[in-house]
Amino acid sequence: MAIEFSLQSAAFIGISALISLIGWMNYRGLEYVIKNYRWVFVCLFLLPMSVVYDFFMYFRNWIVFKMNSAPKQHDKKVKDVQDQVKKWDSDGCRRQMCTARPGWMTISFRQGLYKKSSRKIKVNLVDILEIDSINQTVRVEPLVSMGQISAFLNPLGWTLPVLPELDDLTVGGLIMGVGIETSSHKHGLFQHCCVGYELVMADGSVVKCSATENKELFYSVPWSYGTLGFLVSAELKIIPAKTFVRMEYTPVYSQEDMVDTFERETMKKQNNQFVEGLVYSKNTAVIMTGNLTDEADFDKINPIGYFWKPWFFKHVEGFLKKGPDVEYIPIRHYYHRHTRSIFWELQDIIPFGNHPIFRYLFGWSVPPKISLLKLTQGETTKRMYEKYQIIQDMLVPMASLQEALNVFHEEIKMYPLWLCPFKLYNNPGMVHPKGDQDEMYVDIGAYGSPKAINFDAIPTTRRLEAYVTKVNGFQMLYADTYLTREEFRKMFDHSLYDKMRRKLSNCERAFPEVYDKINRKVRT
Ligand SMILES: Cc1cc2nc3c(=O)[nH]c(=O)nc-3n(C[C@H](O)[C@H](O)[C@H](O)COP(=O)(O)OP(=O)(O)OC[C@H]3O[C@@H](n4cnc5c(N)ncnc54)[C@H](O)[C@@H]3O)c2cc1C
Repeated sequence: MAIEFSLQSAAFIGISALISLIGWMNYRGLEYVIKNYRWVFVCLFLLPMSVVYDFFMYFRNWIVFKMNSAPKQHDKKVKDVQDQVKKWDSDGCRRQMCTARPGWMTISFRQGLYKKSSRKIKVNLVDILEIDSINQTVRVEPLVSMGQISAFLNPLGWTLPVLPELDDLTVGGLIMGVGIETSSHKHGLFQHCCVGYELVMADGSVVKCSATENKELFYSVPWSYGTLGFLVSAELKIIPAKTFVRMEYTPVYSQEDMVDTFERETMKKQNNQFVEGLVYSKNTAVIMTGNLTDEADFDKINPIGYFWKPWFFKHVEGFLKKGPDVEYIPIRHYYHRHTRSIFWELQDIIPFGNHPIFRYLFGWSVPPKISLLKLTQGETTKRMYEKYQIIQDMLVPMASLQEALNVFHEEIKMYPLWLCPFKLYNNPGMVHPKGDQDEMYVDIGAYGSPKAINFDAIPTTRRLEAYVTKVNGFQMLYADTYLTREEFRKMFDHSLYDKMRRKLSNCERAFPEVYDKINRKVRT
């Protein structure tokens, strides 16, 4: 009798709580609940799912690697891609082609609608093929990720000259899209560190290209978003790695000092291997310079990548109070320093994620996979992100940095901002300086919820795009772009690209133009 009574009471309490919760959600509105309490879903479901997913993918990749995907299988796998393309041709080329990788698996926060309507070609090429230490190159397949490559190269004493941050970024995405890192002021973008590409073309042939062989194709592949052919391998430059990065943190307290210091460390001090700025307000920033070294002051070693360590951008902010300092960071910890907090995106999703209690208890389970975040976001979450968030990387000439910072302040008043300098080589292709010389540019990364009262996603982004075009800059295309086709063609030089699309057999039938893959209207 007593048990029956307590079961009834428990059921009553449970049902009442559920009704109150639904009533409260109704009263507050779904938008409010998602905006303020998404962390409940993320912590209870996504973090455990991410751990299981990581474990599963690690195990799966290991099996693929060991059993049927050893590097010697490369030619067979390329032949399989060729066969699929030839079959598309013999079937009458009815739908245009794209890679079969699901849109939710990519790092970009958007998914292309073309994935639903196109013929999907499986390009499951996940292996590191060979390393040539004499010529200092490594040959890899396109789905090799940055986490995989640093784990492979660093213990052998090598690294990529430009190794973009997030573990899950892939070689294919960084070549067909764009890749950048804090060493880019010395080495250029990811594409500038590539020696050659191997592609399966729209007629099913395999073509190799480099700066000396099929030169025009080589220069038109970067930023082409898979609209010229399927990348099946790439040869990348490698350079010697060392154990630590010696980091110097320089806090600055005025905008003039910020721009001067950043410019000086990038352009005048040629010996800095890494330069990065985190801007915390209109007048405060910490400028970081790094150099590879094998020696370190023992008490200054800081393995920032351990899960219980503070998020990197929070750690760096501390130097605004503490003053300038030096640290020695283990090399892989340095490369993936923004991974755990997805730069600072995670603070909007798990607001207490940097609290020591959370870090020590659950830090090992973050970050949630971006792919799972995308896969599990409903229409309301998507709409809210669009309304309240901005994720953009705008590339502007270094000479416009101060003006650009003021424009960003005016339009979004949102901090931190990421500053990453890069040398833009005067090579042919979609993205090059307007003049006839190499030019120093800077990537201004804005990720989060703008504080400007007049922020309105579309008009604000349109104004930022117009400003960037005016100063001969570029927008990274993983982000939302509202450029019209004409504006897009003004920002990106299509002369070589158009020529190649006309020249390459079957290309225009096989693939859409870049604009038709990346503009906001064709992405959800
Ligand atoms: C939160 C966040 C953080 C980021 N941080 C950085 C950063 O630190 N540094 C940086 O450089 N970038 C960064 N990016 C942007 C990133 O560079 C782009 O998203 C990039 O395109 C890589 O993404 P991916 O590997 O997921 O490629 P995908 O999005 O999968 O691919 C990009 C394009 O390339 C095409 N493609 C890919 N593989 C092939 C192939 N084998 N053949 C033909 N076409 C192919 C795809 O069809 C697609 O059009 C960030 C983006 C986000 C959202």
